[in-house]
Amino acid sequence: MSEIRFNALVLKQNDKQLTPVIEQLGVDDLPQGNVLVQVEYSSINYKDAMAIGNRGIIRKFPAVPGIDLAGVVAESQDPAYKPGDRVVLTGWGIGERYWGGYSQYARVQSEWLTPLPAGLTTRQAMAIGTAGLTAMLCVLAIEKQGIKPDSGEILVTGATGGVGSVAVAILATLGYQVVAMSGKPEWEDRLKMLGAQRIVGRDEYATPSRPGRFVLESESLAAAVDTVGGNTLASIISRLNYGGCVAACGLVGGNDIDTNVFPFIVRGVSLLGIDSVRCPTPLRLEAWQRLARDLSLAKLDSLVREISLAQVPEEAAKLLAGQGQGRIVVNLAK
Ligand code: NDP
Repeated sequence: MSEIRFNALVLKQNDKQLTPVIEQLGVDDLPQGNVLVQVEYSSINYKDAMAIGNRGIIRKFPAVPGIDLAGVVAESQDPAYKPGDRVVLTGWGIGERYWGGYSQYARVQSEWLTPLPAGLTTRQAMAIGTAGLTAMLCVLAIEKQGIKPDSGEILVTGATGGVGSVAVAILATLGYQVVAMSGKPEWEDRLKMLGAQRIVGRDEYATPSRPGRFVLESESLAAAVDTVGGNTLASIISRLNYGGCVAACGLVGGNDIDTNVFPFIVRGVSLLGIDSVRCPTPLRLEAWQRLARDLSLAKLDSLVREISLAQVPEEAAKLLAGQGQGRIVVNLAK
C-alpha cells in the first residue's frame, strides 16, 4: 500500500489565508488510524463550506476537509472490519480536528465507522451524509416527544438545503403535514414533489407580530426542524402548540436566540438540541436503519448533484452564500 499515490484536497494556510489545492499524497502522509479506507464518495455540508471558507472549523494546517466519507476498507488492524467491507463515516471530528473525506484514501479510527446500511450504495449513503443523518436525528427526536402525523403542521426551515430537503422528504413519507420554509420561490414545485403541503417565505418567521421580542404568538405548529437559528428559531418557539417541540440543529441565520421562559413554562414546549458529530453509535445505527427504510431513494436521487474533487471549493462558496440546493456528492474517482 505504501507505494500508492492518490489525490486529496488539501487546505493550506498562508498569512491567515486558506488556499485549497489538489495534491498527490502517499498513504504514509496520512495521519494515524487503525483502518485505511479507499474513499469512493464524500459530500458537501454547510460545515464543509465553513471549513473551506476559513470560518474557524479547522485550526491546524495543512488539513484535508470533508466531514463525510463512504468507501471500501483497504486495510484494517481491527478484526471488526476486513478489506472489502463497505463503510460510512460522518462526523466524529473528521474534516475538523482530523483529516477528512476529500481524499481518495483516508486513515481513520474503526470506532468511528458504520457498516454501509443494507440496501444503500456508497453514493446513496453520501447523498444522505451528515445532512441526511441530522435530518433523521431531528425526526427521531420529534417522534420521541410524542408528536404524531395528526398532531398538526410541522415546519422545516432551510427547506431547499441539505438537512431541510431530506427532512421534508422523510416527514412527508411518514405522513406528517409538512410546511417548508424557503427563500427560493423557484423551488416551490420541487418542495411539493418532496411532500411539502405548503411553502412559506423566510420573512414570515423573521420578525415578531408586535414590536419587541418574540414572546407568545398564536399556537400554530406541532413541531419544527430548524436549520436556521437566530430570529427564526425564536419565532418558532413562540408559535409552538401546547406540548410542541423544535429540533434545533443549525445556525445559517444566526447563533443568538432572543426568547424568554414563557413558551416553556406556559405551553410546556421543548427545545431539542441535535448533534450529529458525537451522536452515540446506537442512536446513529437507529438513524441509518430508519433512513434506509423511510427515505424514498427516488426522492433522494432527485436532490443529488455529483461533482469532482476540483469543484468542491466553488460549490462550498455557494453554500456559504445561502445558495445551497439539495445534496452534493463528491465522486472521488472523477
Ligand atoms: P445548506 O447550505 O445545504 O442549506 C441551508 C439552507 O438554509 C439554504 O439552502 C437556505 O434554504 C437556508 N438559508 C441560507 N441562508 C439563510 C439565512 N440567512 N436565513 C434563513 N435561511 C437561510 O446547509 P445544510 O443543510 O448542510 O446545513 C444547515 C444547517 O444545519 C447549518 O447551520 C449546519 O451547520 C447545520 N447542521 C448541523 C448539524 C448538527 O449536527 N447539529 C449537522 C448538519 C448541519 P432556503 O433557500 O430554502 O431558505
